[in-house]
Amino acid sequence: MIYLVEHFYSIQGEGKYTGVPSLFFRFGGCNMRCEGFGCSEKAPDDVIVQGCDTVYAVNKQHFGSRWQSITAIVQFIDIMESYALPEKVDVVFTGGEPLIYADDPLLIEFLEYLTSNGHTVTFETNGTMAIDFLKYPVYRRCIYALSVKLSNSGEPFEKRLKPEVFIDIATHAHESFFKFTVDKAHIGTQLEAEIEQVLAYVPNEQVYCMPMGGSKTEVEANTEAVIEFCKRKGYRYSDRLHIRIWDANKGV
Ligand code: SF4
Repeated sequence: MIYLVEHFYSIQGEGKYTGVPSLFFRFGGCNMRCEGFGCSEKAPDDVIVQGCDTVYAVNKQHFGSRWQSITAIVQFIDIMESYALPEKVDVVFTGGEPLIYADDPLLIEFLEYLTSNGHTVTFETNGTMAIDFLKYPVYRRCIYALSVKLSNSGEPFEKRLKPEVFIDIATHAHESFFKFTVDKAHIGTQLEAEIEQVLAYVPNEQVYCMPMGGSKTEVEANTEAVIEFCKRKGYRYSDRLHIRIWDANKGV
């Protein structure tokens, strides 16, 4: 069983495939909280919940009443058929952390369906959930946007950094790249060394840095500093187009 928080057909707003029309499935649940990102949202029970910019897809206790249970692949296919999609579409699994369902037979079945029909699948992952590439070869055919968390997430080091996991993904996947969320307050601090520490494990991976923020105002406040940071380090700048355009990180 998979918890689905929302689905929408839009353009990819971040990373290497920014601007590409993509069908998003946002799964519910995450193995982290990332309260250091300083976002908050009012839940259906009127509690203000702290976390990341997708806290509504992380916190089951307060937002779970809005999540949909998916128990059969036909539910995914019905959703796809409800959109006017091109013959082959980019499908993005995001969250929360979509790979908490990595061993779920339903996800494996859906991945087989998508890839055998010529669709492209990207996982937006925090890079800490192991994938069994031997048991499930379909994962080799996917793309991975590795959004490894840094200390500004507020998560402890041992929890947010699992080199054995992202090395395995970088080694076996069709394609992968790093995506870091950076804010101006942390540029020039230990955050730079933290990124280098991650890259030392897989030095040939492409690196995208994007401005932290759950709203247009917050993203704009960090943009120029992140661009300068990218120029200095030789990383690629990634905007957060969906927030820039729609001032939100959900359902657009
Ligand atoms: S890993 Fe990602 S989805 Fe999970 S809490 Fe952190 S930022 Fe949010």
